[in-house]
Amino acid sequence: MLNESSVALGKVRSSIRELFEYGKKRKAEIGEENVFDFSIGNPSIEPPKEVRETLTELLNTCNQVDLHGYTSAQGDYGVRKTLADYTNERFGTSLNADCFYMTCGAAASLTITFNAILNPGDEVILFAPYFPEYKVFIEKAGGKVIVLQGLPGSYHIDFAALEQAITPKTKAILINSPNNPSGVVYTEDEIKRLACLLKCRSTDNPIYFVSDEPYRELVYDSSIKVPYIMNYYDRSIVCYSYSKSLSLPGERIGYVAVDNKMEEFADVYAGVCGAGRALGFVCAPSLFQMLVGKVYDKTSDMSIYKANRDMLYDALISYGYEVIHPDGAFYMFVKAMEEDSKAFAERAKQYELLIVPGDDFGSKGYVRVSYCVSPDTIRRALPAFKALADSYKK
Ligand code: PLP
Repeated sequence: MLNESSVALGKVRSSIRELFEYGKKRKAEIGEENVFDFSIGNPSIEPPKEVRETLTELLNTCNQVDLHGYTSAQGDYGVRKTLADYTNERFGTSLNADCFYMTCGAAASLTITFNAILNPGDEVILFAPYFPEYKVFIEKAGGKVIVLQGLPGSYHIDFAALEQAITPKTKAILINSPNNPSGVVYTEDEIKRLACLLKCRSTDNPIYFVSDEPYRELVYDSSIKVPYIMNYYDRSIVCYSYSKSLSLPGERIGYVAVDNKMEEFADVYAGVCGAGRALGFVCAPSLFQMLVGKVYDKTSDMSIYKANRDMLYDALISYGYEVIHPDGAFYMFVKAMEEDSKAFAERAKQYELLIVPGDDFGSKGYVRVSYCVSPDTIRRALPAFKALADSYKK
C-alpha cells in the first residue's frame, strides 16, 4: 500500500494553485491582457539590482567547483555567521552561526521546524485566516492543527479564545505577520501578551513560538513595526524566506533561526538538523546561499506594492466592498458579497477576475486578492470589480 496521505495530497491542488492553473488556461483562450489574475503570491517586481550584480560577481570571480558544490548540511558557515551578525545588529539578539539552518524557502523552514518539534498528536495553534499549506506541513509531521478565528472584522488575536485553547498537548503557536491573506501585522502589545501567556503556560510542557516571516520586509508604513519574537520569548523559532523580499520565489532560499536562550537549545537545533536530514533538505542551493550572505539587507522596490494596495483598497471601498485594511504583505482579504465565498469567486470569473475563496484559509465568507501584479493590471481590473459589486445590487 502507498502512503495514503501523500497520494491524497498529490491528487488535489490547493485552491490557489487550482485557480492559477485555470488562469493559465483562460489566458491562452482569450489573451493574457483580458484575464485579471489575482490568484497567486508571485512577486511582480524585479529583484533589486544588487541581486544581478552579486550573482554576476560570484559567477565571474569564485572558483566554480566550490561555488556550485555542497556546503555543510546546515548551510555555509560564513553565510550563517553573516546572517547571525545582521540579526543581532538589527534586533539586539545574541545569535551565532549555529542557530541558523539554511533552507529552500519558508516552506522548507516550516516543515523542518514541525518535524523537529512535534510528536504524534501534539497540537499546534494557529490563527485564521492562515496560509493553507500550514495544515499540510503540521499534519504530515504528525501534529494536530487547532484553528482559532481572529477577532471579527480585524483578524487580530482573540486572547480569550487562545487562553481556552492551550492544553497540555499544545506544542507550538504559529504566527504569520504580516499575514497572508489578511495583511494584518500583529502589534507589539499582542506579541507581548502572547509571550506572557506562553511563559505562564509553558512550564511542564514547553510550548514553542514559531513565526513564519516571508513578509517581514513588506510593511508599507514606517510607523508600523514587526516585533521580533525572540525579544519577547525564549522558546522562539523564526522561519524566514527571501522569496518575497528579494523577489526570488523560484530560487528557494531561506532559513530557520532557533533562539539560543532556550534551555534545550542544543536539542532543538539538533532536531532541526535531523529533520532537515530526514526530509532531504540538506545544503540549500549553494549559489543563493552565497548571494543572501551578501545582499541580506536589500529588498525589492516595495513602493510599487504600496501604490497597488492604495489604488485597489480605495477603489474597492468606493464600490461598496468591505475590506480588512492590509498593513503589510501583498494580499487583501475582502468580504464576499454573498455567504458562500466559493460561489462569489465563481461569479467573479464571469468578469475574468481570479480571486481565491477564503475557506481554505480557515475563514469563510471572504476572498483573497493578491495584489502583487502590475499597477496596470489593477487599473484595468477595476471596472470588473465594480461590475461584480454592482451585480449584487441589482
Ligand atoms: N508562508 C507563507 C505565509 C506564504 O505566503 C508562503 C508563500 O507564499 C510561504 C510560507 C512559502 O514561502 P517560500 O516560497 O519561501 O517557501
